[in-house]
Parts: sequence; C-alpha cells; structure tokens
Amino acid sequence: MCSARANPGKKRRAVFLDRDGTIAEEVGYANHISRFVVYPFAAAAIKRLNDAGMPVIVVTNQSGVARGFFPQSLVLEMHEKMAQELAAGGAHVDGMYYCPHIRDDGCSCRKPLPGMLEQAAREHDLEIRGSVLVSDRYNDIQMGHSAGCRTILVLSGYGRGEYQWNRPKWPRQPDHVVENLADAVEVILKEMR
Ligand SMILES: [Mg+2]
Ligand SMILES: [Zn+2]
Repeated sequence: MCSARANPGKKRRAVFLDRDGTIAEEVGYANHISRFVVYPFAAAAIKRLNDAGMPVIVVTNQSGVARGFFPQSLVLEMHEKMAQELAAGGAHVDGMYYCPHIRDDGCSCRKPLPGMLEQAAREHDLEIRGSVLVSDRYNDIQMGHSAGCRTILVLSGYGRGEYQWNRPKWPRQPDHVVENLADAVEVILKEMR
C-alpha cells in the first residue's frame, strides 16, 4: 500500500540536498565523469537519514548542459555513479532533480527558484515547509528560507569562502553552519526531526 493511502493527508518532511560541494566535490563545471567525486562521508551520512525514515531529495543546478559544455547524458551518468557509491555504503536517495538551464531560459527549476522543490513535493508527497535544506551556497539557503525550510550551510565546497567573505551581506543567516554533510545530518537527527 502506498504511504499516502496508509497515512491520508499526512505529508512527510524531507531533507533536500545540494549535490556539488555538499555530496560530491565542487569542481566548477563537472564536465567529465572522472571529475565527479562523491565525498567519502556522504554514504554513511545519507544512510543515517534513510535509517531515520527521512526522504532524501537531491536538487542540483547543471547549467553546463544549456551552455553546451556537456550533454544531459553526463549528468545522468554521474547520478548513476552516485547511486552506486551510495548503495555500496547501504544508502540511497529518494529523488534526484537537476536543472539543465541557464537563467535566460526563464525556467522555474533553476535554483534559487523553488521549482525542483515543488516538483519533488508533488511526486513524493512531501511538505516543503518544515523540511530541511543543506547546501554549500547561500543562494540555495535563501531558496530554502523563502520556501519555509530549515537551512544548514556546509563549509565544504564553496561554503567556507561564502561564509568567510559574504556572511555580513546575508539578509538572513542559515539556521546552522557546519563543517560538512556528516555534521549536518548530526544536527538534523538531533534537533530538526
Ligand atoms: Mg553546491
Ligand atoms: Zn531549469
């Protein structure tokens, strides 16, 4: 029986994860499979969310597709690689969403627009408000705030530099700032369930 039926009207809260700089190394435009390196702590961290029964949804901007730097098939190949590495650690993500566009395309999925969150919410019966968003970019944190999420900035990827140089300009601070995804999960399981 599907969970929506078993639990009518009760939507689950999710953990929305950025990809580059949060789950995998931030390398600028990841334009070859060899440059896609999942952090060594990612599988164990995501497994803890799986074990806690929290839906895990990845939302990533991949404008390199629209820019012609690499094909959409490479994004899918990376997501397959990610799924395999997570599976090797007993972990999985419940949804993978990416925006292949540039801003000029006028799409509704490019972060910080909330299109991917909304699509995931429809497809997985999630409540965005009260969900958690984890990212290394303040852009994403702002999207989380506007959508009513709790937010965690990780200092991996662009996070440390953003935090050091741009924090005074931020209209609203992230709810938590932690070293990496492993620590973010620690915070989620302790304080934010
Ligand atoms: Mg990122
Ligand atoms: Zn888009």
